[in-house]
Amino acid sequence: EHTLQVTDLTKSYNAGKPNEVRVLQGVSLNVKPGEVVALVAPSGAGKSTLLHIAGLLDTPDSGTVQIEGTDMSSLSDRKRTAVRRSTVGFIYQFHHLLPEFTALENIVLPQLANGVADKTAGTRALSLLDRVGIAERATHRPAALSGGEQQRVAFCRALANEPSLLLADEPTGNLDPDTSDRVFDTLMTLVRDTGLAAVIATHNLDLAARMDRQVRLNAGVLETS
Ligand code: ADP
Ligand code: ADP
Repeated sequence: EHTLQVTDLTKSYNAGKPNEVRVLQGVSLNVKPGEVVALVAPSGAGKSTLLHIAGLLDTPDSGTVQIEGTDMSSLSDRKRTAVRRSTVGFIYQFHHLLPEFTALENIVLPQLANGVADKTAGTRALSLLDRVGIAERATHRPAALSGGEQQRVAFCRALANEPSLLLADEPTGNLDPDTSDRVFDTLMTLVRDTGLAAVIATHNLDLAARMDRQVRLNAGVLETS
C-alpha cells in the first residue's frame, strides 16, 4: 500500500479569468513507506501548490489525494485536519518557528494540539532534539539559534506527531552550502530511521541524487527521470 497516492491532479488559480494560471495539469505521484522522492522543479513550476495539496493544506480542482489508502475528498474538513495533524509532517525553506517559544516548546505544541499528554510530548521533543544533535539547545528561543539549528528544530517539529508522510519544500534552501549539506544529512538520517515516506523538493541536484528517485515538475506536468 502507498502512503501517498496523488492521481491526475489539476489546479488553476483565478479560474475563468483573464489572469488564469493553470498550475497543475494532470499530476500523479505515488510514494511507498520508506521511499524518499526528490521533487525537482524550477521556480513557479507548481511545487508548493503540489505539496500543499498532497499535505491537505489546499484542495485540487480535480483529481484525488489518497493517504494510507483513504481518499481525502471523502472526509469532512474536520477529519481531514485531524489526518493532516497526525499523519503529515511539513518542513519549509524558512523554519516558521514561533519566536516567543523555546525550541522544546515549538516541538511540544503541535503534539498538544494533537492530543498528546504534556509529559509524553516533552519527552518526545527532547529525544528528537537529541537525535538531531542539539539537545543542549532545548531552552533557547529561535532567535538564539543558528540557521542550521533552527532548521533542525523545524525537522523535529515536523516529526513530533510521528507522521507517516513528510513533505519538505527546499528544507535546506536558505542555508549556506556547507551547512546545507550537514543539515541535509541529519534530515536523511532522521527520515531513514523513521521509515517515513517523503517528498523533498530541492533545486540542488546533488541532494536530489541522494534520494531514492527523482521526479521533475515542469510547467505543471510531472516527469519521472
Ligand atoms: P513553486 O513552488 O514551484 O515556485 P507555486 O506552486 O508557488 O510554484 O506557484 C505556481 C504558479 O502559480 C506560479 O506562477 C505562481 O505565481 C502561481 N500562484 C501560486 N499561488 C497563487 C495564488 N494564490 N494566486 C494566483 N497565482 C498563484
Ligand atoms: P511556500 O510553501 O509557498 O514556500 P511558505 O513556506 O511561506 O510558502 O508558507 C507555508 C504555508 O503553509 C502557509 O500558507 C501556512 O499558512 C501554511 N500552513 C498551514 N498550516 C500549516 C501547518 N500545520 N504546518 C505548516 N504550515 C502550515
